[in-house]
Amino acid sequence: MKLMAQHGMSTLVNHFSEGDNPHCSHITPIYQTSTFSFPDAETAAQIFAGNQEGYFYTRSGNPNATQLAQKIAMLEGLDLLKERHEEVVEKVATCKVFASGMAAVSAAIMGRAQAGDTIIAQRILYGNSYRFMNEVAPRIGLNVVWVDTPDREGWAAACEAHPHAVLVYAETPANPALFMVDLQELAEIAHAHQAWLIADNTFATPYHQRPLSLGCDVVVHSTTKYLAGHGFVIGGALISTHPEYVSPTGGVGLIGRVMGAAPSPFDCWLANIGLKTFELRMQRHAANAMTLARWLSEHPKIGRVFYPGLEDHPGHDIATRQMFNGFGGMMSFEPRGGYHDAVKLMETLQLATLAVSLGNVDSLIEHPASMTHKSVPPAERMRANITDGLVRFSVGIENIEDVIADFEQALNML
Ligand code: PLP
Repeated sequence: MKLMAQHGMSTLVNHFSEGDNPHCSHITPIYQTSTFSFPDAETAAQIFAGNQEGYFYTRSGNPNATQLAQKIAMLEGLDLLKERHEEVVEKVATCKVFASGMAAVSAAIMGRAQAGDTIIAQRILYGNSYRFMNEVAPRIGLNVVWVDTPDREGWAAACEAHPHAVLVYAETPANPALFMVDLQELAEIAHAHQAWLIADNTFATPYHQRPLSLGCDVVVHSTTKYLAGHGFVIGGALISTHPEYVSPTGGVGLIGRVMGAAPSPFDCWLANIGLKTFELRMQRHAANAMTLARWLSEHPKIGRVFYPGLEDHPGHDIATRQMFNGFGGMMSFEPRGGYHDAVKLMETLQLATLAVSLGNVDSLIEHPASMTHKSVPPAERMRANITDGLVRFSVGIENIEDVIADFEQALNML
């Protein structure tokens, strides 16, 4: 069957390159090997020289990693494939998969920026992305310029003040209070200064938002989350419209190989199995989250609810323009009783596991100020709405009546 861009997401991820192996195994085998053999020395030399396709060592490449990368490139590049009437995903987007989301974030930055370069970054970021900017970037000679108010004026002022910045880094919706950045607007601002725009699309996923179609140069993901979806792997992905940057000899290829942040074949295989139900899971996550966000926002014991689908969310207009198929499965909120009630609630809910991470089929709850965002200084946490009473909720695919009944019993205990 010839797969084309007009096929839907589930068709593509379920059929593309499946069964394409010597024994016609219906599910792609796990190539659990560190090294690959060659029929003769000349073939080895040609593969090493990059003149012939083939694998030689799993840190540099593995069929399970390739399959996963191609499928993720298809999901992020779907609109571009359609717009440009292309059938080959590599013509519009190239993906490389990594051992973790943080490996993808680090490779995306280090693959483009070198010592002495300036990066412009939004201050509201996932805790370890913030740490990369704040603690790792200076160690390798990168100058990070923070944007505290990531709206048009804030980004434009930073780009004008630093016209030689090589890249701009954004995360939207941002972890944990779902802050929204207008990616199309930001891509125009960045490109006017010849800077690239990197967007972390972990929260939205390509089911809801496709940054490459909005002009971004690079998309990064923690595949640990919705793409794999079941909480069974740690993984990352980087997708770009600049093939030379991702290629084995480009910046990302080099960093990936030398830093050695290759995913295991088994983890790639698991993530690939997870992808098969990606669209179905996302439909349920988004529908459940919308229902729960509305219910919580009307509950007398709950104060602010941060969910981009709610009309009163500060980024609702951007989310409505930029996201599609709904607004994702992530939200955060503040019980009116502050930290005390937040802790009680996290410990009293029966159907939400008290754990970090997100995007699992089952619901997870955590406390950003003491867990995922602990490394962010308190004053900066406040600016990002990460109060001590804020809890983050990753809405699972459970039956929503059960999730709401569970919240009802837990809130009655406060
Ligand atoms: N980006 C975002 C938005 C995240 O939430 C996370 C992890 O929570 C990461 C990146 C890092 O991903 P990983 O934990 O797979 O390294």
